[in-house]
Amino acid sequence: MTINRIGLIGLGIMGKPMAKNLLLAKHNLGLYARNPATLESFTTNNIEKYSSPAELAENCDITITMVSDSPDVEEVIMGKAGIIDGAKSKHLVIDMSTISPKLTRSIAQSLKAKNIDMLDAPVSGGEQGAIDGTLSIMVGGSVEAFNYAYPVLQVLGKNIVHIGDHGAGQVSKACNQILAAQTVAAVGEAFLLAKSSGVDPNKVREALLGGFANSKVLELHGKRILEANYKPGFKAKLHYKDIGIALKSAEENNIAIPGTIMIEKYLRKLVEQGDGELDSAAIGKIVLDGNG
Ligand code: NAP
Repeated sequence: MTINRIGLIGLGIMGKPMAKNLLLAKHNLGLYARNPATLESFTTNNIEKYSSPAELAENCDITITMVSDSPDVEEVIMGKAGIIDGAKSKHLVIDMSTISPKLTRSIAQSLKAKNIDMLDAPVSGGEQGAIDGTLSIMVGGSVEAFNYAYPVLQVLGKNIVHIGDHGAGQVSKACNQILAAQTVAAVGEAFLLAKSSGVDPNKVREALLGGFANSKVLELHGKRILEANYKPGFKAKLHYKDIGIALKSAEENNIAIPGTIMIEKYLRKLVEQGDGELDSAAIGKIVLDGNG
């Protein structure tokens, strides 16, 4: 099936560079934003701007959503003048936001009733990964839809894995968020121990980067923590949302994930004290401040 135009809803930290990369790859884009001022910087003639998700979907073959949270995805797909109202038969929705696997499955089912296909394709790699087109993309949905979407996903990411059926991509992303958050806390604890022992945590980080405990989190977030530089990046309030998704999924599956409960406390503290807009590396700040 030819892809004449790709729709994109959600032009924030992640969506904006993704749009730029799709344009660089010579795709025609359709854009919708609830705040039209967001669209002002998009001026090239291979862009069409639409006044609702329905109108956008009607004029595109694929619609990518990169909005904030589960209710936002539900709103743009299922809400008033949503994608479901405008998309023609065989349209493909690729939701790249991080949302609930359960809601994903339910939306995919509603879309299927109208012969609209869906992939959940949440990402990891942050703003820089979105800018560089090197995101890691974890995909749930049919193999047929995955193969159709693959050339588009290749513009946005490098490590693109079909995980399983609808919702499997979101489950994978929840796993990613558990690992990332708990590792930030571990880095914070390691630095706290170093400091309290009179040892320079900068030197500790430098040594550990060459050993078994090395990780991207130690490298990037470790630096942020030591420099107290919490400019986002990935906002703590979004990580809080994602850990909520992981805990809810664990509850639905009747399993215990106590380390994640601890992390939820740190992130809730950040959000409640008004630091939700900081980068989620600020989990380390909570640990260092002894406020966990
Ligand atoms: P963001 O900067 O807050 O951008 C979200 C965008 O979605 C904004 O343009 C916002 O519009 C739009 N939006 C939200 N709700 C909407 C709705 N109901 N209707 C229409 N538009 C809506 O967030 P982000 O950092 O790009 O993250 C987007 C998604 O990617 C989230 O699910 C996040 O968890 C995930 N993610 C983010 C990162 C990261 O490093 N930032 C990494 C991996 C995954 P307004 O401007 O009008 O609010």
